[in-house]
Amino acid sequence: MPLIVEKFGGTSVGSVERIRAVAAGLAERQAKGEKLVVVVSAMSGQTNNLIKLAHEINETPSPREMDVLMATGEQVTIALLSMALHDLGLKAKSYTGGQVRMLTDSSHMKARIESIDVEKIHDDLEDDNIIVAAGFQGVDSNGNITTLGRGGSDTSAVAIAAALKADECRIYTDVDGIYTTDPRVVPEARRLKQITFEEMLELASLGAKVLQTRSVEFAGKYKVPLRVLSSFEPDEGTLITYDSEAIQMEAPLISGVAFNRDEVMFTVRGIPDQPGVANKVLGPVSAENINVDLIVQNISPDGKSNFTFTTNRTELSKCKTILEEVIKNIGADDLVINNDIAKISVVGVGMVSHAGVAAQMFAALGKESVNIELISTSEIKISVIVKEKYTELSVKTLHESFGLESL
Ligand code: ASP
Ligand code: MG
Repeated sequence: MPLIVEKFGGTSVGSVERIRAVAAGLAERQAKGEKLVVVVSAMSGQTNNLIKLAHEINETPSPREMDVLMATGEQVTIALLSMALHDLGLKAKSYTGGQVRMLTDSSHMKARIESIDVEKIHDDLEDDNIIVAAGFQGVDSNGNITTLGRGGSDTSAVAIAAALKADECRIYTDVDGIYTTDPRVVPEARRLKQITFEEMLELASLGAKVLQTRSVEFAGKYKVPLRVLSSFEPDEGTLITYDSEAIQMEAPLISGVAFNRDEVMFTVRGIPDQPGVANKVLGPVSAENINVDLIVQNISPDGKSNFTFTTNRTELSKCKTILEEVIKNIGADDLVINNDIAKISVVGVGMVSHAGVAAQMFAALGKESVNIELISTSEIKISVIVKEKYTELSVKTLHESFGLESL
């Protein structure tokens, strides 16, 4: 019998009707022969309400007491969902984080999971129970209640799935999966049946809102098969897998087109071309903890070089100050800042075994007269920087050129 961990967020259990609907779905899947462990969030709005109450008492409440308070939200849902399952004539048992023995460290409100004792869960599953576990909460080695940080129920579900070695972890949410690109830009975008973990990370700019990033990282670490599906019209959703070789044989060249308008491009011009120059420019930038994305260095005929890179736009003024200092120190000519850019990426494990993806990408953009300012490649991704006004055109063109609307 397949063992499945399912997670329902606050909206999915936001009312008595919704809780009954979740129970009905669980009953159907149990009847089909699945062993089920369900992880739930607090009913929508409840965690916020609790935080508000706390702040009415004290502006800086003790983190330990905040955890005692916030954990009550999930405790309500596990009891109500278990009752709804009983009402359908099913056996169900609720568990708080402490009862599952979701052991965490003692950093209140942002605790990290250390271990999970799944023995009792296994026994109860053998006994035909549906297990209803509280997300978001755990207990430290001294028995103090802890919570995992906002949105932490995704991580609870993935962690329990990992500990149980579940066949699948299903995250029910308000979108129905991961798409080939943003459907608001390309209405023909399709939902992907499956995607590799690596692609999921690369497409984060499209999919990040769907899953708490920490839960994706956790899933990757323990290779938990994750499925994202809609709680309102559940169908097969999108499966995130780790078997990239199996997929690769069948894989389309490209799985998705991502874009990002959050970057800014800096060019330091006229740098005396000497060894160590890259470090002289980027060293001070990274010393300030600024993440650099694309990097290009080119040499001009007069023996001077230009150095270009991109960072997140939020770093613009900090980075500008640093670079103006750098230019003085190394005797470079000047600094050009370009805010008017977008990064467009095609992503796919299929490109590992195919030549010509980059050429096809450049040809498609060239045909639309989109000028490419920078290029960067990895094993499963090619990114280009273009003028921001070409974002939609580039995404549409690439989506079409790689046949993504009709796979
Ligand atoms: N109830 C918690 C929150 O609102 C945890 C979760 O929903 O994942 O952050
Ligand atoms: Mg959530």
